[in-house]
Amino acid sequence: MAFRDLIGNEPVKRALQMAVREGRLGHSLLFSGPEGVGKRQFALALAKTINCPHARREPLPDSCDACPSCRKFDRGEHMDFSLIRPETAFLKIEQIRVLCEHAHRKPFEARRRIFLIDGAEAMTEQAANALLKTLEEPPAESLLILLTDQPTRLLPTIRSRCQIYYFAPLRTAEIERFLRERFTRPEEEVRLLARLASGRIGKALSIDLSVYREMRHEILELLAVLAAGDRVRLIKAAEYLGRRLDREDFERRLEILEQVLSDLLRLHLGVEEVVNADVAPRLTALAAFFPPPRLMRLAEKFAALRRDLWRNLNRQLALEALFLSEAPSP
Ligand SMILES: [Zn+2]
Repeated sequence: MAFRDLIGNEPVKRALQMAVREGRLGHSLLFSGPEGVGKRQFALALAKTINCPHARREPLPDSCDACPSCRKFDRGEHMDFSLIRPETAFLKIEQIRVLCEHAHRKPFEARRRIFLIDGAEAMTEQAANALLKTLEEPPAESLLILLTDQPTRLLPTIRSRCQIYYFAPLRTAEIERFLRERFTRPEEEVRLLARLASGRIGKALSIDLSVYREMRHEILELLAVLAAGDRVRLIKAAEYLGRRLDREDFERRLEILEQVLSDLLRLHLGVEEVVNADVAPRLTALAAFFPPPRLMRLAEKFAALRRDLWRNLNRQLALEALFLSEAPSP
């Protein structure tokens, strides 16, 4: 994608394009912001703009997004483009050494060689120190772009040698516009995806709505059983959620449950904007059984359960106790 097609973070986009126009783009940039808000796409748009032989100047510099150079960047096949990311939990010194060596070579065909360090916070201290030398004496024909969602984990000396660009989560309306322009989806799905994404376009693109809806159906059923106080079915639900699902699948359902509880609370407060508006009638029916104090108590209990998960607690027993405490004996 070219700059003109990127959605959100307009101030960053403008600042980058102005820096290109006025020739004051640094040799080392740091893109800082939450996961999924477009840092990689912005870096790619910048790399293409700098190196595109047909780049436009007006209204602001941007790539043509169609020439061989632009397409090679998009496919990650450009000879002058290197992507460095952690292969394990850490970015190792060997990876940074290779980068530094290449950064001092002349570009093959581009104006500037581009080095993208994704997950820069994962650099070991030795790796960061090795990079520091290159950041202190930057090669003229190279551009280093560091991406991170945890800037405080970077050495202060690394941060101070980079031009920093701060990325923010996108607005729901911006994600909706992006989804409408790119895909043919029913409006109801666009709306739901944009709200589930919580400001991260990357998340909107990674959600499988049919899986989401299936899990949400289970959660709505569970709440209906809780509302009815059906102890036999609650014990079965505890067995399913606690024993048959693996932890990751269970946590995904917990997340959906928290979202649904917060939607129910919004209904009580008269806030029209709920995330799961596509099942509004079911939510309204459930809301009658869950007044706000009960919703908040439930939310607290599930939050405590989530915190305790790492302790290897017996999930099935914990859920059984939680459910039965919410369904007093007849
Ligand atoms: Zn081009």
